[in-house]
Amino acid sequence: MDKGLFTGINANVLTQENMADHTTFKIGGPARYFVVPKDIDALKSALEAAAKAGLKCYILGGGANVLFPDEGYDGVVISTQGLDHIFLEKSGLLHAGCGAAISDVAMFASSAGRAGLQFFYSMPGSTGGAIYMNARCYNASISDALKAAVYLDREGNVRTLDAAEGGFDYKKSPFQTNGGIILEGIFATTGGNAELLCKEMEGYEADRRGKGHFAYPCAGSVFKNNRAFGLPSGKIIDNLGLRGYTVGGAKISEHHANIIVNCGNATAQDVKDLVSLIQVRVKEAYGFQLEREIIYV
Ligand SMILES: Cc1cc2nc3c(=O)[nH]c(=O)nc-3n(C[C@H](O)[C@H](O)[C@H](O)COP(=O)(O)OP(=O)(O)OC[C@H]3O[C@@H](n4cnc5c(N)ncnc54)[C@H](O)[C@@H]3O)c2cc1C
Repeated sequence: MDKGLFTGINANVLTQENMADHTTFKIGGPARYFVVPKDIDALKSALEAAAKAGLKCYILGGGANVLFPDEGYDGVVISTQGLDHIFLEKSGLLHAGCGAAISDVAMFASSAGRAGLQFFYSMPGSTGGAIYMNARCYNASISDALKAAVYLDREGNVRTLDAAEGGFDYKKSPFQTNGGIILEGIFATTGGNAELLCKEMEGYEADRRGKGHFAYPCAGSVFKNNRAFGLPSGKIIDNLGLRGYTVGGAKISEHHANIIVNCGNATAQDVKDLVSLIQVRVKEAYGFQLEREIIYV
């Protein structure tokens, strides 16, 4: 396939790249183009080149919350992994490129004795993905620490969104509707003790290991929790005796019923069928619809 489309752009360009190799579910067929821009200009140029060629684009962070189709993606997947700077201002403001792993950002801040991001240590995914999803763990949402996000708007202008303007809620961010591409997160950190923060992070990682998060390929929680339902989604699914239930190669985790794992040969369709089955069973039993958190590309 011709990569000429992206000639002169400061990016790595691959063709027919399997998305199974770029997602934590380890599922997904080939993307026609897989582009890894090395700087923001390259990202803009890649978007322009794709638009000129009439190709659709998908922005991919760590691939920890997405399910790509088995037949692949007939367009351009733009990976943010090359935009991974992290630096700390004297004021305590921490800047993280959208492609920096959020766990590395947590480690960077904590090691420097800055608190506020430690909760995200060992959570898979990028800074941009965490902001987009407004990721949440250990009672902290990423928006709690976010001061501002620099992003590219639909017209290609670089803008800054002040987190105080609002638009963030439980697992919701303004980027889910405004079409912006997050370039950098700017986080407010507070003074802390590096040793204690690192100990705290070790605890989170151990907790995740204990819950089987890394035992099989998965994309974390399949459904959002809804307080109105009275119980966490995992407990609701568990109460229906669905733990361990399997469709093809996809299985409801034995460790945590709100996680679907790929037992090795799961297809995207297996996962989708299992998700639908859970939703139907929950609706029949309780009368409400669980809201999917994982994203179908
Ligand atoms: C083992 C495991 C445990 C997990 N635990 C948690 C948890 O505790 N809490 C939690 O909230 N989530 C959890 N998750 C889910 C996942 O880690 C988060 O949703 C994470 O924030 C996704 O980031 P990502 O970079 O992988 O995003 P991706 O999966 O790459 O993308 C997710 C969405 O964000 C968009 N996106 C990514 N980068 C950008 C950008 N720069 N600009 C605009 N849009 C962008 C994508 O287009 C896509 O729509 C877990 C996942 C796994 C595999």
